[in-house]
Amino acid sequence: MENTTKKGGISVQTEHIFPVIKKWLYSEKDIFLREIVSNAADAVTKLRRLASLGQYDAGEETYRIDVILDKDAKTLTVSDNGIGMTEEEVERYICQIALSGALEFVEKYEGDNQQSGIIGHFGLGFYSAFMVSDKVEVITRSYTGAPAVHWVCSSDGSYESAPGEREEHGTSVIMHISEEEAEYLDKYKIENILEKYCAFMPVEIYFRAEEEETDAKDKPKDEKAEEQKEPEAPKPINDTTPLWLKNPSDCTPEEYKEFYRKVFHDYREPLFWIHINADYPLNFRGILYFPKITNEYESIEGQVKLYYNQVFVADNIKEVIPEYLLMLKGVLDCPELPLNVSRSYLQNNTYVSKVSAHIVKKVADKLNSLCNTAREEYEKVWNDIRTFVEYACMRDRKFYDRVKDSLLLQLTDGSYVTPAAYLESAKDTHENTVYYTTDQAAQAQYIAMFTAQGIPVAVFDKQLDTQFVSMVENYNSDVKYLRIDADVAGALKGEGETADQPELSALFVKVSGNDKLKVQFAPLKDESVPVLLTISEESRRMDEMMKLYAMNGMGTGSTFPTEATLTVNTKNALIAKLGEMEEDKREKTATVLYQLALLSQRKLTAEELQSFLSNSYGVLGML
Ligand code: ADP
Repeated sequence: MENTTKKGGISVQTEHIFPVIKKWLYSEKDIFLREIVSNAADAVTKLRRLASLGQYDAGEETYRIDVILDKDAKTLTVSDNGIGMTEEEVERYICQIALSGALEFVEKYEGDNQQSGIIGHFGLGFYSAFMVSDKVEVITRSYTGAPAVHWVCSSDGSYESAPGEREEHGTSVIMHISEEEAEYLDKYKIENILEKYCAFMPVEIYFRAEEEETDAKDKPKDEKAEEQKEPEAPKPINDTTPLWLKNPSDCTPEEYKEFYRKVFHDYREPLFWIHINADYPLNFRGILYFPKITNEYESIEGQVKLYYNQVFVADNIKEVIPEYLLMLKGVLDCPELPLNVSRSYLQNNTYVSKVSAHIVKKVADKLNSLCNTAREEYEKVWNDIRTFVEYACMRDRKFYDRVKDSLLLQLTDGSYVTPAAYLESAKDTHENTVYYTTDQAAQAQYIAMFTAQGIPVAVFDKQLDTQFVSMVENYNSDVKYLRIDADVAGALKGEGETADQPELSALFVKVSGNDKLKVQFAPLKDESVPVLLTISEESRRMDEMMKLYAMNGMGTGSTFPTEATLTVNTKNALIAKLGEMEEDKREKTATVLYQLALLSQRKLTAEELQSFLSNSYGVLGML
């Protein structure tokens, strides 16, 4: 038996496997390296386990994986000092099991054009090496001490197995990179793939490119000398004990931030994080970060990386983490994910949906606990996370129900209150109503009037806020949200009855140029304000929605919402005088008053401003 070479061919039915593998999913090609390196890591893990069971004497052994690129020889080698294989095992595991695994995989997904997503992220295994190689060699020696084996397989499916030369137990897989895939001989390309897929594998991985050594020889003498003075110890490319595996109580904030910087290359500090450590029955781990977003228009696309036992699988798998939480950044390690999964499988998998539900719960719990026990910290980040949280609430009623008591309202004085606390304080003045402003500068006049009456005003100045408010109203039919210019609140009105003044009413309608304008007479507590313009909440929201739909320039921002009301303050001195003025003067004054009301409600258009200025000069001229 010794020294004989065995020849073989991959059986007839498998003839087509190599061409298919080679063509298979162009965009996914990089995964071949992950498959080969994770096999190497598995081989080490198996040997470690045998050692821990006392079935193998490991002595002082340290385990490692070497990835070696040799551009001249056009090979990429992955070498481990793991369990290794005997000749019989090569026959069984590589020629039969690995092959049938690959076959099954190809059969399942051949013709499936769904190139994006998770398909192809799992378990193509050993034969994925043929996506980039036209020949693969395996030199392996079993930990049992059986003779080494040298196995060579070419891309037509024929293989040869012969005794090999190898002292140390373990396996080297030598991939002869094909002409067409020469890009895999690029050092940076390989480095990037390792960084992406292997950064947290459980065995130290060292990468070197042979060409580097030739480079060093060519360097000028003094540089070389310096290098020799301090030979740099090679560092593994991976972190074998990623933070998510640790017990949350053993991790420091600095470690969390450091991990975040390293994984996401984001120089901004995350706002806070959630370390999930779910044991039986769910069994998955992860760290999710709320990233700092500088402005609301920045893409809120985050990055949640999915791992399978420390092996990277894919980014942003929305079956595992709900789409509305994808603005988070983080890592999830789900060792229970079934192998060979497809997207449709994930969608119907109970483990996956439980993981997803658990994540939602953890995120909600974190918000609630911050709100209840770290209020100051929570207030500091609230404006940064508000849009995320509102969006999540709008997408998932359950999430809203969980966090609804922690959705802070920021008031115009800069303080924060919970909705419950706001409503409690509103009991006597404006029961079940939350007043808000969308623009503190433009609506300053109204804010001043509310503030004078001790009515707190919430600030809703982000794009999503109005839609969010509508949703909250839908869920809580007894609570109303009103913009401060929506209604002359009861609390702003003073004492006493007033009769309508039809003549003055008609005059204001005339000078406004809006024949749908409603005019009402009321005594206002603030006597200095002559007239106040309000726009019904409903019609304004409708108008905003129309603008959102129109998008393309049709809504000009100056369209006047139909339901506007002008409240004439019967307590105001100027209003009292209006009646005594001669007609021309009265009309000019009414025009300026109306335009002032308009000005304190919103920005004027260029045309309106022009008219306002000339009217004002006219009135001043009458003094
Ligand atoms: P999988 O890893 O999913 O089992 P693969 O096709 O990747 O499928 O590999 C098939 C089998 O070949 C492995 O289960 C293992 O027994 C064996 N094998 C592959 N690579 C190595 C290696 N580096 N060391 C030892 N055994 C290996």
